[in-house]
Amino acid sequence: MIRPILAVAAFAAAMAASAPSVGQGAPPRLGLPIACTPGKDCFVQNYFDHDAGPGVKDHRCGTMTYDGHDGVDIRLPTTAAQRRGVAVLAAASGTVKGVRDGEVDRVVASRAEVQGRECGNGVIVSHANGWETQYCHMARGSIAVKPGQAVAAGARLGNVGLSGWTQFPHAHMTVRQGTTKVDPFTGGAAACDAAARPLWSPAVAAQLTYASPQIINAGFTTGAVEQAAIEGESLARPTRGAPLVAYVRAIGLNGGDRLTLTLSDPNGRELAKNAPPPLDRAKAQQFLFAGARPPSGAWAAGRYRLTYTVVRAGKPVLSRTAEVTL
Ligand SMILES: [Zn+2]
Repeated sequence: MIRPILAVAAFAAAMAASAPSVGQGAPPRLGLPIACTPGKDCFVQNYFDHDAGPGVKDHRCGTMTYDGHDGVDIRLPTTAAQRRGVAVLAAASGTVKGVRDGEVDRVVASRAEVQGRECGNGVIVSHANGWETQYCHMARGSIAVKPGQAVAAGARLGNVGLSGWTQFPHAHMTVRQGTTKVDPFTGGAAACDAAARPLWSPAVAAQLTYASPQIINAGFTTGAVEQAAIEGESLARPTRGAPLVAYVRAIGLNGGDRLTLTLSDPNGRELAKNAPPPLDRAKAQQFLFAGARPPSGAWAAGRYRLTYTVVRAGKPVLSRTAEVTL
């Protein structure tokens, strides 16, 4: 079983009134449930878990999920981005069936702290043919709809928050028909089934291309890199007179992946390299750093570069560079 470093969120059954399974019925075409651009300012962290046992299996038979995860998690790169406000959107038109607000926005250490309220502040929208979408972990006080209200596809339901069982800011969406939870990436088909038909609109399906691994933060700072400072977007800016540190946070890494981060000077000369042993297991997220002290007191003016690569099964699957001018 893969234990995600990041946590997890779960759907609160208590929020939803039990509905009979209705069997056949055309599903809604789903738009993005969050106002962002996947791969740029938001990222799929966890997919639907297709493994019935204690293991995990996402729709591509990968590990970007956790045991029992019943929806999709689209995360923001930082909590600072969440505080600036990112809307959660109705993925399809429908009628608001239920809402919950008033749950505190905070990272919880254990599920027990939010037992029965794992969804946090959330909204359920009913669609035709017994289909429903449920949205979780929204910001307290941000819920913008009321039960019984008709909503159009793309309507703002509230904002991304940190309520319920979550350790990072994201929008969780569960899709179900009656009581049957459905993976929007397969439309109910099994994982790795070539006949799977996603429920997403074609445009959104193209935006949500499966990305494992991908980078959610990368940049330069000076001195130690604290996760809280990355989340707060408060890392110190590098200067010519201080150590220069490159950092990357990637998600969706597999066991065996080989990560390398190098820092080079304006002439392309390598200043530092961090190439840890292959990962011993899948990692929901992983930080990597590489830093150096300035020679003779100060860095020469110019552009410094980080290069980050991930090699999987002998093949490069991710390569990215970023630069800073000192
Ligand atoms: Zn989730």
